[in-house]
Amino acid sequence: MLKKARYVSQDLCTGCGSCAEKCPSMVVDAYNVGLGQRKAIYKYFPQGIPSVFTIDAPNCRQLGQGKKCGVCAKVCQAKAIDYEQKDQEVEIEAGAIILATGYEVFDPSVIPEYGYDRIANVVTAMELERLLSASGPTAGHLDRPSDIAMEHELEDLEKEHKKLSRQVKQLEEKCGKTSQEASDMLKACAVIEGIDLKAWVDSAARAESMEKRVAELKQRVASFKTAKKLAFIQCVGSRDFRFNRFCSSYCCMHSVKEAMIANEHDSEVRSSIFCMDLRAVGRNFEEYKVRGGKQSQIEYIRGRVAEITEDEAHNPVVWYESTTNRQVVHEVFDMVVLATACVPAEGSPALAKLTGVELDQNGFFKTHPLAPLNTTRPGIFVCGCAQGPMDIPESVAQASSAAARAAEAVTVRKAVG
Ligand SMILES: Cc1cc2nc3c(=O)[nH]c(=O)nc-3n(C[C@H](O)[C@H](O)[C@H](O)COP(=O)(O)OP(=O)(O)OC[C@H]3O[C@@H](n4cnc5c(N)ncnc54)[C@H](O)[C@@H]3O)c2cc1C
Ligand code: SF4
Ligand code: SF4
Repeated sequence: MLKKARYVSQDLCTGCGSCAEKCPSMVVDAYNVGLGQRKAIYKYFPQGIPSVFTIDAPNCRQLGQGKKCGVCAKVCQAKAIDYEQKDQEVEIEAGAIILATGYEVFDPSVIPEYGYDRIANVVTAMELERLLSASGPTAGHLDRPSDIAMEHELEDLEKEHKKLSRQVKQLEEKCGKTSQEASDMLKACAVIEGIDLKAWVDSAARAESMEKRVAELKQRVASFKTAKKLAFIQCVGSRDFRFNRFCSSYCCMHSVKEAMIANEHDSEVRSSIFCMDLRAVGRNFEEYKVRGGKQSQIEYIRGRVAEITEDEAHNPVVWYESTTNRQVVHEVFDMVVLATACVPAEGSPALAKLTGVELDQNGFFKTHPLAPLNTTRPGIFVCGCAQGPMDIPESVAQASSAAARAAEAVTVRKAVG
């Protein structure tokens, strides 16, 4: 087994976070599905075990970029930073193996009619999870991605404008002239020794146009409101013969859950869930769905959405056939959420080859119909979404069963000698 270097001693790190606070290197945060940023020294996710930090070597100035830094080592009082740590090959003698490598979410950009990679306010359910999370990039507020992008543009532009204005002011002070006077001199082909008048005048003009853009963006940003009207599109990549024929089993319920959480966070949020049928299969799931409709302003609309377009205000427009009046209708939303399919983890074929087990026709680990934890090879078990789509309670129950089956296999082997 390959154990990758953390560059932080697991035994010494106390998880205090002083290193990340001072680390100067910002990186796009994959855990927040690219919606936020983290430092080059980071925890994989807040509840990760062990609760210790790791250096993301390629994004670290010292380890991956050949620059001098070492800030984390200086501030770490536990002396846990170890830039010399190496990847390790660890040999484990195992009596049984459990494959618990989970799933990946389907990439909806392969469905052009839903515009995921074109329309900023069309997001995946996973992205919405992060937006709704108190520890997420918007602290749980439903800010629209188009608005977040504009806020970032404003931030960057303000920084650039400040820098440029400072340079122009320094030139004005140094030469004792205004930028307008410098412009007049340039027109008159006059010179000031050691000063590039053209560059000065260009910078002043750029600073002026930036100032206008900053004012315009500020006005627009001040008018932003959080999303109030959400559309959830079910079966994106599931129950669709072009992609996956199977039902992903958990997405109907996570859409109801997300719509309820959004309404709990802001009682003005209303949601429409577009589905062929809403599969509330589980104890009390049907009651949960009905409660969502009654208490959380959720409307369930039967139908498969045909297309999503975008209006001038970056609002997604959902086009669908209403099965009640049998007409093609459209409705404008603040944000659209795609309930994407559960697909096999990318590494499953390689892992199957390595362990000598078979995959099923959908690419999940194949199991025996009467022994759902058994792979095609004795002593190797599988649990959770590595076996097929299932929710957390089912995955946890399967994990316990798989652990028991593995313990049984080891005990039998020991008894036999
Ligand atoms: C948007 C969304 C919301 C959801 N909400 C809910 C909900 O509210 N309630 C609910 O019950 N279910 C929910 N689900 C479903 C839930 O995510 C799954 O049921 C659950 O994650 C399955 O657990 P798992 O351990 O089988 O797989 P995973 O959670 O995928 O875990 C597998 C782990 O194995 C790791 N791994 C993979 N390959 C390797 C390798 N080669 N070596 C080492 N590690 C590896 C992965 O990095 C991952 O951490 C939701 C799903 C989505 C997409
Ligand atoms: S060495 Fe510098 S860039 Fe690298 S993790 Fe430490 S503080 Fe961050
Ligand atoms: S759980 Fe619901 S949304 Fe997910 S694939 Fe099945 S029917 Fe479609």
